[in-house]
Amino acid sequence: MQSTNDDLKLVLRALHFAADKHRYQRRKDRESSPYINHPITLVSILCHEAGVIDAEVLCAALLHDTVEDTETSLADLEREFGHTIRTLVEEVSDDKTLPRDRRKQLQIEHARHLSVKARHVKLADKISNLRDLAVSPPSGWSVERRCEYFDWARRVVDQIRGTHEVLESLFDEAHSARPR
Ligand code: NDP
Ligand code: ZN
Repeated sequence: MQSTNDDLKLVLRALHFAADKHRYQRRKDRESSPYINHPITLVSILCHEAGVIDAEVLCAALLHDTVEDTETSLADLEREFGHTIRTLVEEVSDDKTLPRDRRKQLQIEHARHLSVKARHVKLADKISNLRDLAVSPPSGWSVERRCEYFDWARRVVDQIRGTHEVLESLFDEAHSARPR
C-alpha cells in the first residue's frame, strides 16, 4: 500500500505527462479551450464531487485520452505508470482504427465488462462531456447531434448502473440538460 505522499507524486506525474502529451491540442468548443482542462475536470468530478480519491483512478482519469488522441502508446503508459494504470486507460480507450458508428456501438457493448475503477473513469468522462455539451458544445453541432450524443452517453452509462451512486446521480443531473 502506497503512502499518501507517493500517491500525490504519482497523480502529479500523471498530470505532468498528460499536460505534455496534450500540449498542442484544443477541445472542440467555440473558445478552443486547452485540452488538458478536460482530464483535470474528470479528476475534480471524481475527487471533489464524488469522493473518489483512489490514486490509480485519478491517474487513469488524467491519462484517459492520451492513447486515443495523442501519440502515446499503451507501452509508454506501462513503462511510466505501471501495469494497473496502463490497463485502466486501455479499458476506457476506443480503437480509433474502427469506423465511428462501430466504436460507439462497442462502447455500449463493452461498458458492462469494465472493471469498477475503469467505470469510475468512464462515468466522470461522460459527466464532463455532457456538461460541456450543455454549456460549450463543439462548434457547428446541431441540436439534433447534441441530442444524439446525450442519448448515446446514457445508453453507455445504463450498462454500468449500480457502480457508484454519486457519480450516477451526477450523470443524471448532467443528462437533464439534454436539449428538447
Ligand atoms: P465526436 O466523437 O466527433 O465528438 C464527441 C467527442 O468530442 C466527445 O466524446 C469528447 O470526447 C470530445 N469533445 C471535445 N470537445 C468537446 C466539447 N466541447 N463538448 C463535448 N465533447 C467534446 O462525436 P460523435 O462521433 O460522438 O458524435 C456524437 C453523436 O452525433 C453520435 O451519436 C453520432 O451518431 C451523431 N452524429 C450526428 C451527426 C449529425 O449531423 N446529426 C453527424 C455525425 C455524428 P473525449 O472526451 O474522448 O475527448
Ligand atoms: Zn474524455
